[in-house]
Amino acid sequence: MTAATRADAEDLDRNDVLASFRERFVAPPEGLRYLDGHSLGPLPAAAVEAVRQTVALQWGAGLVESWEQWVDLPQRAGMRIAPLIGAGPDEVTLADSTSVNLYKLAAAAVEAFPNRRTIVTDAGNFPTDRYVLQGLARRRDLQIRLVETGVDGLIRPDGVAEAVDEDTALVSFSLVSYRTSALADMSAVNDIARRRGALTLWDLSHAVGAVPIDLAGTGADLAVGCTYKYLCGGPGAPAFLFVRRALQGALQPPVWGWFGHRDQFSFDPEFAPAPGIERYLVGTPPIVSTAAALAGIDLVAEAGIEAIRAKNRRVTSLMIDLYDEWLAPHGVGLTTPRAPERRGAHVAFTHPDGLAVTRHLRRDHRVIMDFRAPTTIRAAVAAPFTTYTEVWDAMAALRRTVAGGDDLAAAEGRVT
Ligand SMILES: *Cc1c(COP(=O)(O)O)cnc(C)c1O
Repeated sequence: MTAATRADAEDLDRNDVLASFRERFVAPPEGLRYLDGHSLGPLPAAAVEAVRQTVALQWGAGLVESWEQWVDLPQRAGMRIAPLIGAGPDEVTLADSTSVNLYKLAAAAVEAFPNRRTIVTDAGNFPTDRYVLQGLARRRDLQIRLVETGVDGLIRPDGVAEAVDEDTALVSFSLVSYRTSALADMSAVNDIARRRGALTLWDLSHAVGAVPIDLAGTGADLAVGCTYKYLCGGPGAPAFLFVRRALQGALQPPVWGWFGHRDQFSFDPEFAPAPGIERYLVGTPPIVSTAAALAGIDLVAEAGIEAIRAKNRRVTSLMIDLYDEWLAPHGVGLTTPRAPERRGAHVAFTHPDGLAVTRHLRRDHRVIMDFRAPTTIRAAVAAPFTTYTEVWDAMAALRRTVAGGDDLAAAEGRVT
């Protein structure tokens, strides 16, 4: 099969049901091709206006009285994320960073099982997830058991079934691998954990806004995720956390703050946790960031997760077809699963000079992909924003770079 031509890509853009969403974002500089939405989602125009209003009108004119509209903003944001992750409106809230939320929920989970001494995760999990679990295990004298994954980073249910036993308190994985884009079988993993009586904690950072997620339908217990990747919430936007309704009263938050109190403004001298998801709030929420995040969340919800998923499957397939024809002959590897139902919205290539390639793409071609040591080059599809044609152009630039037509040695600088 021969891969698509540029005219084919233009044709796909003309027939793209999400094409009109491109204009809902602030236009990137002329000539820039942005394939890094898995790291920082592009800026929705509505976010600029939301921040302006929040600052100028609510903060500037309303001053402290604006807290009346702000105080339940984390809950309202949670309600808007809930349909994207298959959760009930009272099962999600927005707070802190993904790392901190992961700690809060993991600590609450292991504390609920004082007689179980093991946490199961995988060697390819995102570094912060590994570190948070390591720190928790150290403090509480628990063991971490690592499920092995192959080069494709896929969590295999049989590997999970071998690792989880009656000593397991918590099973924690990322739904989509930050490195390879491998998409785990959430339902199979939840079943295994449930049968052994362990709780599950999913990190949805690379999945939310990219693939449909059904936390309730698959019986997930706990989840966290960030809003600044495919939800386009902005740099440092607060993360979300999910606790299955039936567990909310049973698990104790590890950090007791006034926003988690059952009656915050009673200024009660003793802590008493809120009955529901609010008990996982700690301190004052970041209102300006949350206003920006809501603009991104609403845009993704409006585009619709089914249309987003259909498009990112098609575009990642286009990338893999072009890879086969253009890049594989030049020693570039592919670690992303080829089955579209087993990958998220980015594609991971490997190249021995991956850092130099990525720098060169940015400097000489204005193509933004990113690099993860030692050899991974990642390129993502932010479906409401990304066009088929820019992906085709970016892949053509990558081809030229690895085919030796360009001088790699000249490119310098950090690639975040
Ligand atoms: C991006 C990402 C994070 C980010 O954590 P922060 O605390 O927001 O910095 C965590 N986990 C995964 C899997 C991620 O992809």
